[in-house]
Amino acid sequence: VNQQSQPVSGTREEWLEKDRKYVWHHISPHNDHPMIAVSGEGSWITDQEGARYLDAMSGLWCVNVGHGREEIAKSAYEQMKTLAYIPMTQSHEPAILLAEKLNDWLEGPYRIFFSNSGSDANEVAFKIARQFHHQNGQPTRHKFISRHRAYHGNSMGALGATGQAARKIKYEPLGVGFSHVPPPYCYRCPFGKSKDSCGLECAAIYEEVIRWEGPETVAAVIMEPVITGGGMIVPPPDYMRIVQDICQRYGVLFIVDEVICGFGRSGQRFGHQNYGVQPDIVTMAKGMTSAYAPLSATAVRADLYDLFRESGDDSHFRHVNTFGGNPVSCRVALANLEILEQEQLVSRAAVLGRILGEKLEPLLQLPSVGDIRLFGFACGIEMIEPDGSPAKAESVMKVLAHCKQAGILVGKNGDTVPGFANILTLSPPFVTTEEELDLIATSLYNALGSLH
Ligand code: PLP
Repeated sequence: VNQQSQPVSGTREEWLEKDRKYVWHHISPHNDHPMIAVSGEGSWITDQEGARYLDAMSGLWCVNVGHGREEIAKSAYEQMKTLAYIPMTQSHEPAILLAEKLNDWLEGPYRIFFSNSGSDANEVAFKIARQFHHQNGQPTRHKFISRHRAYHGNSMGALGATGQAARKIKYEPLGVGFSHVPPPYCYRCPFGKSKDSCGLECAAIYEEVIRWEGPETVAAVIMEPVITGGGMIVPPPDYMRIVQDICQRYGVLFIVDEVICGFGRSGQRFGHQNYGVQPDIVTMAKGMTSAYAPLSATAVRADLYDLFRESGDDSHFRHVNTFGGNPVSCRVALANLEILEQEQLVSRAAVLGRILGEKLEPLLQLPSVGDIRLFGFACGIEMIEPDGSPAKAESVMKVLAHCKQAGILVGKNGDTVPGFANILTLSPPFVTTEEELDLIATSLYNALGSLH
């Protein structure tokens, strides 16, 4: 555990040749020039040639406690030696302790179902919601309402819930029963409202849609507290509470996807805690282990679970996956949560988010920046062309390349539809220093400033 990893032998070109021959990359096409990363420490990644990059996205919004945490590696090693595996049809100490700890973090009695990924956790939520209604005497409730621009995962149901058209091309038809409402996108309000004329139409629309669909057919609403991957779309403060009230009035379950917003990213333990709501179901992944091991969870209100215990033969949740709740992953999650607690990283994330916001303020004077949106320690910078239209893909790619050249890894989000992929994103590890935030802000200022 204490040994340094061996330096990688071979030239970059040799590694790239093998990479091109054998590896199928996620999203980016094969002929891309990927970074071949070899190690990580704090907020930094080192590549195969020894170049260092500030990981301003924490990978894919996930390495919350930063890279190179020895205590997490040790916990995995010890657990692997002691008990590497037992299926979750049984139980084990790390899963029990983690489920207890998650209850503490969620401030409520929830039953925890463990899976492997955020997509898995959402699929579990959908199946549980439908089965719950069946066993609660309302078997026609099968539909889900989510939002345009939201991302909820890659599998057929989670992609059905996703509201980004470009992600679905050539994969449809997806899971049936998903409809979408416009997002609370204040910068270009889909309802044509301004700050002064806003009547929270984006929240009220849920009631309309539930009634149009027929309340007796709607199982659940799913939303992230803030649409992250769809471009950091931060709702007005009352939005989430209004939607939850509507759900309660119509007997619709309220599922909150905390895959990105959870585990401190929002400046609270969970994103929804910023908005004073108590979801029926919470899904989580990424920051639960800070990505040191794959693990996700679906937390279900304890009284909903009772219906899965008490009715007839087919009333239990007939869902299993081999790796979900793996003892090593659960132990890693416990070590990760202990770090978050002991180093008070959740409140630190809130402070760092405010500091980042201040450091980015000068960017608003640049003609290429239309809006800056912050939620805790996550940020979206909406790029525009000088005429105010959404930035073109070439402009966005130039900024990303400029930042990478300066040693900063920045994200690009929105949608892959042209005109919607114009949001730069930041979601640094919670151990990032103020000096490192300066580096991020300066290189973004230089990159964005060089455009026009
Ligand atoms: N939900 C949200 C909000 C996400 O951002 C993601 C992934 O980025 C997922 C679900 C799916 O998670 P995974 O990639 O672990 O399946």
